[in-house]
Amino acid sequence: RSNAQKFEFQAEVSRLMDILINSLYSNKDIFLRELISNASDALDKIRFLSLTDKEILGEGDTAKLDIQIKLDKEKKILSIRDRGIGMTKEDLIKNLGTIAKSGTSAFVEKVQTSGDLNLIGQFGVGFYSVYLVADYVEVISKHNDDKQHVWESKADGAFAISEDTWNEPLGRGTEIRLHLRDEAGEYLEESKLKELVKKYSEFINFPIYLWASKEVDVEVPADEDDESSESSYEEESKDDDAEKSEDEEEKPKTKTVKETTYEWELLNDVKAIWLRNPKDVSDEEYTKFYHSLAKDFGDEKPLSWSHFNAEGDVEFKARVFISDEFDELLPKYLSFLKGLVDSDTLPLNVSREMLQQHSSLRTIKKKLIRKALDMIRKIADEDPDESTDKDKKDEVSSDNDEKKGQYAKFWNEFGKSIKLGIIEDATNRNRLAKLLRFETSKSEGKLTSLDQYISRMKSGQKDIFYITGTNKEQLEKSPFLERLRKKNFEVIYFTDPVDEYLMQYLMDYEDKKFQNVSKEGLKIGKDAKAKELKESFKDLTKWWKSALSSENVDDVKISNRLDNTPCVVVTSKFGWSANMERIMQSQTL
Ligand code: ADP
Ligand code: MG
Repeated sequence: RSNAQKFEFQAEVSRLMDILINSLYSNKDIFLRELISNASDALDKIRFLSLTDKEILGEGDTAKLDIQIKLDKEKKILSIRDRGIGMTKEDLIKNLGTIAKSGTSAFVEKVQTSGDLNLIGQFGVGFYSVYLVADYVEVISKHNDDKQHVWESKADGAFAISEDTWNEPLGRGTEIRLHLRDEAGEYLEESKLKELVKKYSEFINFPIYLWASKEVDVEVPADEDDESSESSYEEESKDDDAEKSEDEEEKPKTKTVKETTYEWELLNDVKAIWLRNPKDVSDEEYTKFYHSLAKDFGDEKPLSWSHFNAEGDVEFKARVFISDEFDELLPKYLSFLKGLVDSDTLPLNVSREMLQQHSSLRTIKKKLIRKALDMIRKIADEDPDESTDKDKKDEVSSDNDEKKGQYAKFWNEFGKSIKLGIIEDATNRNRLAKLLRFETSKSEGKLTSLDQYISRMKSGQKDIFYITGTNKEQLEKSPFLERLRKKNFEVIYFTDPVDEYLMQYLMDYEDKKFQNVSKEGLKIGKDAKAKELKESFKDLTKWWKSALSSENVDDVKISNRLDNTPCVVVTSKFGWSANMERIMQSQTL
């Protein structure tokens, strides 16, 4: 086309397209999932903007938020059209070719090693999956802020953009036209498309229509050539009062023939899963919903979920879909959760910034955190491996094998996030501390919790003992533990660098103080001879202190913390532990 402007794909994108176009990957169906997902995203965007500006939707058909699929068998074109936000010329250039997303090269690498394309959407390059089935693709798009443009490419390293002066105006939105390859003919079958849309649109909240053929019975004159007979029938049928005898004698002068007509057929049920009663939603449906929400189409199941209706000051109920672009709904430390909040309490006609500061949003956030932490706690409660009670353990495990080991799995993946939460979220610190897991001098390589530690505390033990270091092996050899071990006290091993920071925030738990056993202030029960010893070694400790000078040590004391080792260097109460010094040094290097 004469007015077309040519562009080259960014190198990584070009490489990705090469791989796709030559791919032998068998599950090519996924391209439709990606296109529907993009259409749905684009519709969400315009709907979101319309919350604060109704005008933006336009009038008539343009305001209809739907997705339309059409087939052209002769030209072998499959087109998917949405009335979403659309793309300006600049958007087309950037989004479809010149700017590589961060996931592009990661995905290319993954495909080259595994050959698996299913996760393409998660890497932010789902659009290019169209080249699994098409060798030429046109993207026609109209954004409110620009004229209609056409993007086109044959996946030969380049694409072209032209102002659209020949296609039907879209009003607003995007139409993707796939010129299918010969071997992709199945995507021109209505039945195939219906099946795929059903599979991929379960949680799409916009209607998806197919321009579907329909066989209808039509009455046509029995003998179309005979003009006189047709007109005589019409005359008679108009005459309602015609005598019965005449009617009976009359032979039917029309016949029924099959005719193909086309109409928009709705393919999905748009009733949102979150509006249904949690009791009526199956585990399988939740799993599928998670896959669609998280764009995670691997085999992974969600570890757990929580579905609730909040009532009271803020109702989360039907109507407004709050965009997941609100980072404010969950704190960073819970960002591994995927979710959806639906509320009609939020005001519609305020700016986004104001919406973010709205008090309902804070209430929602508070409740979401609470529910999330409850949910995580439940994973632990239902995990037979977590139970210390032997009888209960057997009982639980026999009928709940599936939940076995789930908490350890969670902890390995997201333990760091929980620790981050303890540091950042003072309000929920205690709830989060309940979720902590660690090894101890007595846990025999297994993970244990603070509650379990407390249940094993010796009578008269006031503090929770812990020690920090690089690894368990190193800590086990520490002279700081000699005496404690001999006296049968349990000591927590904190071996993650973040633990040092964690313990600056976690001062106590259930009225028990935390005591770093490598620091000053360790009290191991009462020692009757303490005073006497202190007195008799007074001269020695004084001599040591002056010999080492105040630059090197604060004090030299008699202590009952050791057993075999004659002396040990202890950190002052408010100073950094030796481990912390090590961490800080490694950070500055
Ligand atoms: P992702 O959807 O993860 O961002 P894609 O490769 O599927 O990655 O799409 C790339 C980008 O192209 C999208 O982020 C969006 O900006 C744009 N885009 C794709 N399809 C549409 C559409 N139907 N309407 C508007 N924009 C679209
Ligand atoms: Mg996408």
